[in-house]
Amino acid sequence: MSQFLTEVGKRRTFAIISHPDAGKTTITEKVLLFGNAIQRAGTVKGRGSGQHAKSDWMAMEKERGISVTTSVMQFPYNECLVNLLDTPGHEDFSEDTYRTLTAVDCCLMVIDAAKGVEDRTRKLMEVTRLRDTPILTFMNKLDRDIRDPMELLDEVENELKIKCAPITWPIGCGKLFKGVYHLYDDEVILYQTGKGHTIQEKRVIQGLDNPALVDAVGEDLLEQLKGELELVQGASHPFDRQEFLDGALTPVFFGTALGNFGVDHMLDGLTEWAPAPMPRQTDARAVAASEEKFSGFVFKIQANMDPKHRDRIAFMRVVSGKYEKGMKLRHVRIGKDVVISDAVTFMAGDREQAEEAYPGDIIGLHNHGTIQIGDTFTQGEDIKFTGIPNFAPELFRRIRLKDPLKQKQLLKGLVQLSEEGAVQVFRPIENNDLIVGAVGVLQFDVVVSRLKTEYNVEAIYEPINVSTARWVECQDGKKLDEFQRKCALNLALDGGDNLTYIAPTMVNLNLTMERYPDVVFRKTREH
Ligand code: GDP
Repeated sequence: MSQFLTEVGKRRTFAIISHPDAGKTTITEKVLLFGNAIQRAGTVKGRGSGQHAKSDWMAMEKERGISVTTSVMQFPYNECLVNLLDTPGHEDFSEDTYRTLTAVDCCLMVIDAAKGVEDRTRKLMEVTRLRDTPILTFMNKLDRDIRDPMELLDEVENELKIKCAPITWPIGCGKLFKGVYHLYDDEVILYQTGKGHTIQEKRVIQGLDNPALVDAVGEDLLEQLKGELELVQGASHPFDRQEFLDGALTPVFFGTALGNFGVDHMLDGLTEWAPAPMPRQTDARAVAASEEKFSGFVFKIQANMDPKHRDRIAFMRVVSGKYEKGMKLRHVRIGKDVVISDAVTFMAGDREQAEEAYPGDIIGLHNHGTIQIGDTFTQGEDIKFTGIPNFAPELFRRIRLKDPLKQKQLLKGLVQLSEEGAVQVFRPIENNDLIVGAVGVLQFDVVVSRLKTEYNVEAIYEPINVSTARWVECQDGKKLDEFQRKCALNLALDGGDNLTYIAPTMVNLNLTMERYPDVVFRKTREH
């Protein structure tokens, strides 16, 4: 096999989906610890400990203890190179999360085993089902009293419509948590408390009839385990890799992220079973990772990650070919060839200059305003990756300056923030208002705070009578003209100058749609 294909085959690119507080940040820390990316776990999210977060960067995130941004961490594990894409944790940022999930080949679903399937997990799973992304599951917090494991699997199967194949099975929980039985290796891996910050030496007892097991877990728990295993074998599904790859079955692991137990079992499964970089669809054809010519798409733009640099980074998922420093790439949307000499990689959250990158990797391009979310880069081929949408916002405010002289700065800031997908901005055709549209209410606060720190503009919001927006298109030029003339009061341009209908009420929208059947009103817009 060529060196290129060997490198491609090593890549595993995944994201974690979970409900807030299920343990995503803690697992990220442990995963990085196993990847030897950080010396000691506990540095990903400070949360009052005074330590600086590696995957979070905005002061606001630290204040609120939520991850607003997406970042990327790459680390070696087993024979693989793993890319972990951090998804924003808060519900308000579903749009960003959605786009990040288009850039991965697999997801880890983390469930708080004391709580079971929660809201946000349900929503995120819906998103992964659109592309049948393979899912691994980690039942977390076994060091607490959890719900009956069998019941948890039932809940996942019934609510999320995915079959469960337990790979490990817990022995006790809470204070009595002793470890897990690996169903396929026929071994018990013992848990030790107080080792959460280190990689523990694996203490393993081979076979269920091993006399050492009674000493290690006690007779009662052993009996209970054997009874449960009989049930499990009858009621759950055996692991089947093809079904996993089809998104129809999820391997399930039990453990405690805080106690750093079980995360490595999950990583072993991930590196062994998760797919190497998958093909991606374009408007013309599917592009396979094994193709030697470079291609990639931008799924995220993030401003000023490093306050010292004050730049913006466009995150590009490499789909095919090899990126090499100084390479010339076609920026397809604007039809220009550009030399990329300063792309960055994300070795465990630190930014480094990328010398090379392979399919599955994420590279960061410095963006001076020309790159937008959804943009495709190739080695000359005019194709465009599809499936990276914008959603019509559902909340609207008029934004106004405290100092009216800074109108230009405000507009610049808003347009840049909308390119990032942080928020959407609309400029009505008939007046000089600036309208900010968001999917979640927290985005409004983020925008005002970033306008202040990054653009030095103080802005405030006012309520506005807009309840929904639709991107509009019409093939027939004449009919479009008429529509534009008659509806001018409700028309605006978004940050990318796309025509948008902003409706004061849903009734108004429905009437307008009836009145202009030749006009297409879109709820999502592909970049
Ligand atoms: P996130 O919101 O999903 O990123 O969750 P965090 O990783 O920040 O965890 C939320 C809370 O649960 C924190 O207080 C963690 O210390 C705690 N936590 C995470 N994993 C475990 C675990 O395995 N056991 C226990 N007891 N607590 C945990």
